[in-house]
Amino acid sequence: MIYDVLVVGGGPAGSTTARECAARGLSVLLIDKAVFPRDKPCGGAVSVRAASLLPFGLDPVIERTAQAIRFSTCRQPRVTQVSKTPLVYFTQRRYLDLFLLEQANKSGAKILEGTAVREMTLPENQKREEVILRAGGASFRGRTLVAADGAAGVTVRMSGIPAPRWRGAALEGNYKISEGFPEKWEDCFAIDTGDIPGGYGWIFPKKDHLNIGVGGLSLGKSGLENKLSSLIRAEGGELSDISDLKGFSLPIQKPGAPIVKGNLLLVGDAAGLVDPYSGEGIHNAMRSGTLAAKHLSRYISGSASDLSGYQREMTQTVLADMAVSLQLFMLIHLLPLWIAERLHHDVGRWPLICRILRGEAQYHDLKAGGPVVWGVLDYFLRPSVFPAVSKILRRLNR
Ligand SMILES: Cc1cc2nc3c(=O)[nH]c(=O)nc-3n(C[C@H](O)[C@H](O)[C@H](O)COP(=O)(O)OP(=O)(O)OC[C@H]3O[C@@H](n4cnc5c(N)ncnc54)[C@H](O)[C@@H]3O)c2cc1C
Repeated sequence: MIYDVLVVGGGPAGSTTARECAARGLSVLLIDKAVFPRDKPCGGAVSVRAASLLPFGLDPVIERTAQAIRFSTCRQPRVTQVSKTPLVYFTQRRYLDLFLLEQANKSGAKILEGTAVREMTLPENQKREEVILRAGGASFRGRTLVAADGAAGVTVRMSGIPAPRWRGAALEGNYKISEGFPEKWEDCFAIDTGDIPGGYGWIFPKKDHLNIGVGGLSLGKSGLENKLSSLIRAEGGELSDISDLKGFSLPIQKPGAPIVKGNLLLVGDAAGLVDPYSGEGIHNAMRSGTLAAKHLSRYISGSASDLSGYQREMTQTVLADMAVSLQLFMLIHLLPLWIAERLHHDVGRWPLICRILRGEAQYHDLKAGGPVVWGVLDYFLRPSVFPAVSKILRRLNR
């Protein structure tokens, strides 16, 4: 059989692409090396903007819902901002990803688990030729291929597509609550900025534990552990109280990097779509999966001659938003206190932050508040200065 779409990877990007393609009537095979439920290093925070991309609710896998954020600077609590409606849902990836995969399967996508893709043949330029994947001792044929195999996936590398990325890293673990869940975390999570280069620390509430983590520009394993220890100590615990400690990379696409090659599309972490400022990856994984399905469907039906529409629409939407996010990222870490005061702690800006988290506004809307200041920042905070900024941040944090 020749499938319309072969998807490698069954995380949020792959399952969303597979479900949306199947719902559009395409034949889809999704292959994942893991057997689900499987875990993935992740805080398990799903913003309302991410959840609202789905045509179904996440209630079966949501453990807590937050309407408030406690902002702190260098572990000193500064302000707790409260919203009238939910901002972020908290889940565990082993439950979320299985649930999303089941929805893809219900829509008609075929799922093959426990099978690692090891080789592929991709036609060079004859886009109408088929793709062949070799996995688990068998071959699978498809008209198109979607790389959704995450930050350490092999598909992009095997395809020869240049994929320049900046790489952050994050480390997280679970702090078990033995007696009575603390009231202060019931519908609130914490973000700590100030001394983590290009990143932040978090405390996310789950059903019976807190997920505590730090992420940012590569600090190395010991650097991340030190920051995580400080965060836990500020809450009265020790690093040794944390179980399931896991780390992984956060891939951020360099502007202009291709996400299409012939009949191959890149989605989610495989495309480097982690939001630089928030570190949120699930939202763009789902967003890219939805757009990929739209353009795959046009291509397969013959109404588009190639898949370049995906690159164009991603550039105008997701990647444009990521460019502003990269500027915020540089600002919050070059001038952490100044920006925290003007953004996180500012009651006047809070409604806009809530609207961004709910998907009712974009990062771009922050610029409306100060066109002159942003004009200057646009000049100085170009993506090309990012490597220099990262160097400064690392030096400052030695
Ligand atoms: C410590 C940490 C905390 C994070 N916290 C958050 C958070 O709270 N909220 C948030 O929004 N984002 C968070 N992120 C980012 C988020 O986890 C990722 O952006 C997101 O998982 C990307 O989804 P994806 O589907 O692209 O890739 P993944 O979720 O990584 O899925 C890739 C899939 O591909 C499969 N695969 C890999 N290689 C092969 C192969 N050769 N053959 C077949 N299958 C293969 C894997 O088994 C996996 O199932 C965090 C990241 C880290 C590292």
